[in-house]
Amino acid sequence: MPHAELLTPGGMQELTAALQRATPSSRLLAGGTDLIRSMHQDHWEPDLLIDLTGVRELDYVRLEDGMLRVGALTTFAELQADPLLRRHARCLAEAAAQVGSAQIRNVATVGGNIANASPCADTVTALVALGADVRTVDGGGRSATRPLAQILVGSGRTSLAPDEAITEVSFAALGADQRTTFAKIGSRSTVTVARLSIALIVKYDAGACIVSGVRVALGAVGEFAFRDARLEELLEGRPANAESARLFADGCMEAVRRAIPGRYSLPYKQHAMLGLAYDVRLDSENISLNTAAV
Ligand SMILES: Cc1cc2nc3c(=O)[nH]c(=O)nc-3n(C[C@H](O)[C@H](O)[C@H](O)COP(=O)(O)OP(=O)(O)OC[C@H]3O[C@@H](n4cnc5c(N)ncnc54)[C@H](O)[C@@H]3O)c2cc1C
Repeated sequence: MPHAELLTPGGMQELTAALQRATPSSRLLAGGTDLIRSMHQDHWEPDLLIDLTGVRELDYVRLEDGMLRVGALTTFAELQADPLLRRHARCLAEAAAQVGSAQIRNVATVGGNIANASPCADTVTALVALGADVRTVDGGGRSATRPLAQILVGSGRTSLAPDEAITEVSFAALGADQRTTFAKIGSRSTVTVARLSIALIVKYDAGACIVSGVRVALGAVGEFAFRDARLEELLEGRPANAESARLFADGCMEAVRRAIPGRYSLPYKQHAMLGLAYDVRLDSENISLNTAAV
């Protein structure tokens, strides 16, 4: 087996020069937690490996004009601890905190989580709920921005061109009246890939105890994380109480059935989704759908 040529760009200019040489058999290397495992397990090598880890300007979290901007090389450990995300996009910080082990979170990146396009990718579920856009650069030095939903085309498949690298993911920062959470179920309690995940964002009127502006994304159901408008409408304008919690849980089960009708895993996923939906709590103020605000 021929060995891959390794390029180690040290900045954006060198990265675009490296991308010019990319072919469909080339790969970008970030944390390597998916790519290196896949190369070892499946006994293959790309013709060219472009190591992104020297492009340090792709590692940041910034708040600019109400938009949160996260560089593609930002690791889960950084996302999990970032004060801007914990304040304005808590579901993303929570999703990052639940990825793998501390060793994985120290090196694995948000760009890799998106590009790997696993149906179980935790931060992707949160980013879909947040309505994220993805910015890329290609070998011609051209930048483009498109919705995350246009990047994900199937399990393990993206619309990224071979010479296209993700540079940033961005979304509107959540306001003080918005609450958000992320939860997942795996086959173990820790270091586990999601069998189901859910990210929920609502506006909460504490005086009236009413939720609105509902956004729900489900992950590890079907080929990629998605929002379900019918599920979101169920909660819109409702009080945070036991009846709403029941409606939400039933709606989540129905959304799973719509997404994977006839799939062998449907009975398990519907049942598990019921438990996950009842577990949903909203953020540090601990607004729970099933007990009213506390
Ligand atoms: C033990 C273990 C546990 C795990 N647990 C979880 C978990 O709980 N939740 C979860 O979501 N994931 C989990 N993962 C998967 C993995 O850690 C994530 O998908 C991670 O985000 C991949 O990022 P990376 O930087 O390591 O990507 P890499 O492995 O370097 O790359 C992955 C893919 O993305 C491409 N790529 C990387 N960066 C870019 C970029 N900027 N632009 C375009 N393409 C790019 C690469 O070419 C490759 O195809 C686990 C992995 C392991 C080994």
